[in-house]
Amino acid sequence: MKLIVMGSGTSHGIPVIGCDCPVCRSSDIRDKRTRAALYIQGDAGERVVIDTGPEFRLQALSAGITRLDAVLLTHAHADHIHGLDDIRALSWEHPIPVYANRATIAEMRERFAYIFKETQRGGGKPRIIPTEVTAPLTIGSLTFTPIPVKHGVLDILGWRIAENGAGEGANAHSKAAPSGNAKPETETRTAVYLTDTSLIPPSSLNLIRRAEVFIIGAIRDRPHETHFTFAQALATAIEVGARRVYLTHISHEHSHREIEAYCRGFLTDQELNGISVGPSWDGLELNLR
Ligand SMILES: [Zn+2]
Ligand SMILES: [Zn+2]
Ligand SMILES: [Zn+2]
Repeated sequence: MKLIVMGSGTSHGIPVIGCDCPVCRSSDIRDKRTRAALYIQGDAGERVVIDTGPEFRLQALSAGITRLDAVLLTHAHADHIHGLDDIRALSWEHPIPVYANRATIAEMRERFAYIFKETQRGGGKPRIIPTEVTAPLTIGSLTFTPIPVKHGVLDILGWRIAENGAGEGANAHSKAAPSGNAKPETETRTAVYLTDTSLIPPSSLNLIRRAEVFIIGAIRDRPHETHFTFAQALATAIEVGARRVYLTHISHEHSHREIEAYCRGFLTDQELNGISVGPSWDGLELNLR
């Protein structure tokens, strides 16, 4: 499967309107961060996005999305869902299921009330099927497992993504690792996407273990009430045995290069080898084979 980090920025996007800090004025393309979102394309052509923020239309155009099987939402904050209307152009042929937890579905119905009412005259509307999710769901050969986490006081979802059904539940953990150099399938085709997280309940830890790719929200170096800092995100990723770690939902307090240096320092301080850690950027494409 292929993953594209469509947006890697925090809620206001970078550059921030009206800000003239060095990061907002940076000419490094990786310092332009639109609102956080992920695109997943399965080997059998499945196409799914996690979150539809304000730049969804532009992100979909640059990722080359021409069809969508589902939208998965982490939560209902503006930076994650207010571009939902723009799935309209992808929903003409068939309505698109939108999966989220109960609270997010309820808020989404409120924010997008016009979609579900007959009162609107003229102007198009997306065709969506709101679907509350409490268990893993399957789309073609992809399995998406909701991961309950805390975002401040909010209960939101991260997502575990596995191809060919590998890597989920007891099945994944009861399989013995093959001998020789072959990697177990559970490690080569599983990714975890966790944004806007400030706490992972112990009951969710198993769902984030042993992913080959771990994309985790890390807003900045300074503490934040509702988001992991760089250090908290990296410590979490190391704790669960991730080997390729990408930070996302990043603020304008640090440039891409500064965060790269921070991550290198973190690995050196912790004497960690064989792990790759760094900031993601808009358009970053990851192939899991
Ligand atoms: Zn957010
Ligand atoms: Zn700035
Ligand atoms: Zn949020």
